[in-house]
Amino acid sequence: MTITPQHIAEMDAADPLAHFRDEFAIREGLIYLDGNSLGCLPKRTVARMNRAVTQEWAEGLITSWLGADWVNSPTRIGDKIGELLGAQAGEVIAGESTSINIFKALTAAVSLQEGRRVLLTETGNFPTDNYMMQGLARFGDLECREVEPDAVLDALDEDVAVLLLTQVHYKTARIRDMAQVTAKAHEKGVLVVWDLSHSAGAIEVDLNASNADFAVGCGYKFLNGGPGAPAFLFAARRHHHADPVLSGWFGHARPFDFDGQFEPAQGIDRFQCGTPPVLGMSALEEGVDLMLEADMSALRQKSIALSELFVDLMEQRCGEYGFEFICPKNSAERGSQVAFAHPEAYAMMQALKARDVIGDFRAPDIMRFGITPLYLSFADIAQGVERLRSICQSREWDRAEYRTRAAVT
Ligand SMILES: *Cc1c(COP(=O)(O)O)cnc(C)c1O
Repeated sequence: MTITPQHIAEMDAADPLAHFRDEFAIREGLIYLDGNSLGCLPKRTVARMNRAVTQEWAEGLITSWLGADWVNSPTRIGDKIGELLGAQAGEVIAGESTSINIFKALTAAVSLQEGRRVLLTETGNFPTDNYMMQGLARFGDLECREVEPDAVLDALDEDVAVLLLTQVHYKTARIRDMAQVTAKAHEKGVLVVWDLSHSAGAIEVDLNASNADFAVGCGYKFLNGGPGAPAFLFAARRHHHADPVLSGWFGHARPFDFDGQFEPAQGIDRFQCGTPPVLGMSALEEGVDLMLEADMSALRQKSIALSELFVDLMEQRCGEYGFEFICPKNSAERGSQVAFAHPEAYAMMQALKARDVIGDFRAPDIMRFGITPLYLSFADIAQGVERLRSICQSREWDRAEYRTRAAVT
């Protein structure tokens, strides 16, 4: 069936999440398909940052640690993120980067696994996950084992201390079944660290229903927490006696005793390390609050509808230009992004940017488009594909300026 402008207008008219678009500051004309790398700016964040700087910082100064509750921001915001992810209050902490939280979650898991020395993950994951694991293995005299994605379950055995997996793959968008993988790992006594960077705010996640052990994820992607936003870490309550190794003073039972000896806090607080980045926390909280106002199941439904429209239109409008859809075809197995391989992916993405459509390029040949239902309309998707078609028709991607690689892609 050919999709007409009328179909698209009908889909937008029936969209229960359409009003969220007004909550975001998005330049007229821009089609932003990169919210899975850096989410858009919620308008309310502008007011919050202004308050955080001119009142809490300038006027309150150090009294704002209590007066503006800066001191509890990691647990307060952590609880809100936990609500999105099926965690209980007191199981999630906001702070650090995802990379650092991967380290903490891995070390905590290893500390619970007397006699087991193997860290297991899949090849082709987002590199920082594997890099952090490789560094920990060198430092902690552990063995890092990286196997093909489909060989992970078979590689679980009595030597493995912890399995690190990303729930939604950053390139292919493939979704791992968290409950099933966790159950299989537990059968072999293996603990699992889930990376939820492309899950949080993107798909429905229920950590406790999945019996998850540990999880980490980003604040600046679907949670719209701002560039370099603090990340988060989940530790199931049954694992709160674990040792995350990075024993900074904010993880101490009584940081303001200034005691000479480290004594870990009870509960999730022991997963804190140093002073929280308060300004980043303030921005993150607005993004999370906004996400909490949306119904996750409506969000997921719209994400699927937008993605299916994208894929159908690519076939109808760009079918003759050689794009290969590299994500699972079944929407239930795909996260909130679509990706296509094309030999000229890099130059095409540059040409698209010049036409005010932003997606991203992932080496070696992938064009990736984030689907963020809070601020994308069906018309945006149709317009984005139309501009891509026009670039292909005119071959305007075929210019030297679009072929020069930039440092950040
Ligand atoms: C985006 C992403 C990260 C980012 O880690 P940072 O420490 O924030 O740079 C890590 N893992 C995965 C799977 C990601 O998608």
